[in-house]
Amino acid sequence: MALKVTKASTLKPHPADDKLGFGQIFTDHMFNMDYAPEKGWHDPRIDPYAPISADPAMLVFHYGQTIFEGLKAYRTPEGKIQLFRPQANLSRFNRSAEMLCIPHFDEAEALEHLKQLIAVEKDWVPSSLGTSLYIRPTIIATDIYLGVTASKTYRFFTILSPVGAYYAEGFAPIKILVTTEHVRASRQGIGEAKTAANYAASILAGAKAAKAGYTQVLWLDAVERKYVEEVGSMNIFFVIDGELVTPALNGSILPGITRDSVLSMARHWGMPVSERNISIDEIFEANEAGKLDEVFGTGTAAVISPVGELRYDEKVIHIRKNEVGPISQKLYDAITGIQFGQAEDPFGWIVPVD
Ligand SMILES: *Cc1c(COP(=O)(O)O)cnc(C)c1O
Repeated sequence: MALKVTKASTLKPHPADDKLGFGQIFTDHMFNMDYAPEKGWHDPRIDPYAPISADPAMLVFHYGQTIFEGLKAYRTPEGKIQLFRPQANLSRFNRSAEMLCIPHFDEAEALEHLKQLIAVEKDWVPSSLGTSLYIRPTIIATDIYLGVTASKTYRFFTILSPVGAYYAEGFAPIKILVTTEHVRASRQGIGEAKTAANYAASILAGAKAAKAGYTQVLWLDAVERKYVEEVGSMNIFFVIDGELVTPALNGSILPGITRDSVLSMARHWGMPVSERNISIDEIFEANEAGKLDEVFGTGTAAVISPVGELRYDEKVIHIRKNEVGPISQKLYDAITGIQFGQAEDPFGWIVPVD
């Protein structure tokens, strides 16, 4: 099932690897596919990267019926290109689709389409240490209608953005503010879906945290305002008295693929691991007792993001004197080693592109 490929007539210049940053530069081509009730998903194609012309009454602009994914293509030391667990992203994309009333797509076909798109854009996968090609699959509701209802038509598109090394200047532990004023998502809502509304809901809390000098917000659960959920748009982990602990997936937490990879890796090493409810008080008490060994966030962008400071109302704790802990470092090295093809992949996570 070959894709129709329309090549761009002019190609963009490639910036130097140390000028990439995040999410500002886009490649020459994109993937497009449409949905209509009578045809299902149809007309998958690779087109020149271009603006989307859209009617102002398009549903997605008004009621946010849209979902997205985020994953990366990596260049190995041999110059090959590979993806990390793309099937997991595509199956999460379909789970998000279900929550937003968007029709399912075929995951095996979508993986083939993605590999073909990356193959067309392979020269855009940067090769300096820590750089990669960020992949953003998106689905939007395209009906021209102002009724609050599920759209009948959709566009699936994928754009690509070469991104710089997240830790170009070395690991930098972040400062986190526990928000007691805002809630990201609640159980039985859409917190588990990668959908625009959850990010819209996080902007004000993030802006307040930034104003107070913090990098990210730590979200507590919406019901009891007591249990730790996520940090910014990352999952969160604690090492308490030698055990790796993360909040159990409870319906409002986004099921991160990096989260799952960290859990698999730690279990593979025989480390004690638990997924359970963790109250914010437990974290501060563990710190008081000298048992809070490490805190870090996980996500595709940074993989591991060590936390150096945590503020909850008037209480402030410093973790490991702002230095990166051994477990954070070991997990980062092990997972990025597999992603960049520098280490064996005992889990079957890698999908080669070429
Ligand atoms: C994407 C995302 C994560 C991390 O998921 P990964 O698959 O590890 O990148 C965590 N929390 C939120 C809210 C997210 O959007």
